[in-house]
Amino acid sequence: MNAHLYPFTDPIEARATPPKQMVSGDGAYVTDTLGNTYLDAVSGLWCASLGFNPERLQKAATDQMGKLGYYHSFMGRTGEVTNHLAERLVEKLPDGIDHVFFGTSGSEAVENAIKFARYFQIGRGKSTKARIIARDGAYHGSGSISAALTGMSYCHDGFDVPLSEVIRTGRAHHFADAHQGESETDFANRRVQELEELIIAQDPDTICAFIGEPLMGSGGVFIPPEGYWQGVQQVLRKYDILLIADEIITGFGRTGQWFGSQTFGIKPDLMTMAKQLTGAMFPLSAVGMSAQIYDGLSEHAHRLGTFGHGVTYGGHPVGAAIALETLKIYEEMDLPVHIAALGAHLRKALEPLQDMAGVGNIRSIGFVAGIEFTKNGAPDDATARAVGEEAERRGVLFRIINNTLAISPPYICTTHDIDKMVQVMRDSIAQTHS
Ligand code: PMP
Repeated sequence: MNAHLYPFTDPIEARATPPKQMVSGDGAYVTDTLGNTYLDAVSGLWCASLGFNPERLQKAATDQMGKLGYYHSFMGRTGEVTNHLAERLVEKLPDGIDHVFFGTSGSEAVENAIKFARYFQIGRGKSTKARIIARDGAYHGSGSISAALTGMSYCHDGFDVPLSEVIRTGRAHHFADAHQGESETDFANRRVQELEELIIAQDPDTICAFIGEPLMGSGGVFIPPEGYWQGVQQVLRKYDILLIADEIITGFGRTGQWFGSQTFGIKPDLMTMAKQLTGAMFPLSAVGMSAQIYDGLSEHAHRLGTFGHGVTYGGHPVGAAIALETLKIYEEMDLPVHIAALGAHLRKALEPLQDMAGVGNIRSIGFVAGIEFTKNGAPDDATARAVGEEAERRGVLFRIINNTLAISPPYICTTHDIDKMVQVMRDSIAQTHS
């Protein structure tokens, strides 16, 4: 088993305690080599929106493989199905996002979005506008600049990622970061004011873009307070700084609308998407961009002779076919209506847990939630870990993030599945505090 170096895992500990090996999936459930079955309340890594063995996606993949199993999009050639996906996707994307560029992973989409933002700035003669603002607690990937943008020290330590290209600002997490008695509105205004002061201090002529997840996922499910994004956008516009919405978790329904940008009233210049684009059944990502960005890139590339950027598997036809079928399924579900019903059920089921010992804050929007544990007002990572591990023994997988347990279930969950995950959460909290 030592053949495999596992991501986000202590390699030495993994030799003593190897990871569970999953062998099969059935809807929202996965089964390991020991025959234990788990309800995965986080859709794997917030991505398997249609469960772990969706039949229609399997068929879309095999049909496409039988027809054209690979093609690229370089130098005057592309897959027809890839073009179909681009057209369908642009129809679904928020108003003002009119073009897409395909990649493979989420990290790559972030790397691409940053490259494109800088290419755009250079193309319009603003080459000093190069640095990127990102927030504490953000997760933007495991590439080079994407890891540097990530606001988690363990993604930087020992890796020599280009931190000097990043300017860090505060996260929008009222529960943990508000001053004593500070309202959500005052907190949002303070964050916006801090951002403006930072931009002035750092010199707007050196700043290319701000990147943010509409709702921060891997940091701990932080739902921004009302007014936050409106304020941030006003400041960015004032100082001519691009806005990149990282929709890799929030894209395709998670927050209630098709995109988190719609839920929170964000008008990005560029946006990244991956994960639920294919229901996680194929590594496919995309960067969406406004006409202004697209036109700027196109003219710049034309002057240089080509757009010198792309990867072998970007917009892979099998991934494109799976994504087209995924979008069709989301449409048949009437995604926002479907998520509203599931989300309301989850929210109601979680409400009574707020009164349990150790639970500091429960928050949810759409079909994603965070349960934050505190002890005497301070973050309690140990309890979150103990509750998460107890839940796993009881057959439900949550994501343990510091002092928070995250829930982000597949959209095919029944109300029975939701009740089960919340019951196991409740029993695990009770057990941990007994
Ligand atoms: N951005 C966000 C907001 C993410 O949540 C993730 C993955 N959790 C990424 C980027 C990176 O995506 P990937 O793991 O596919 O590279």
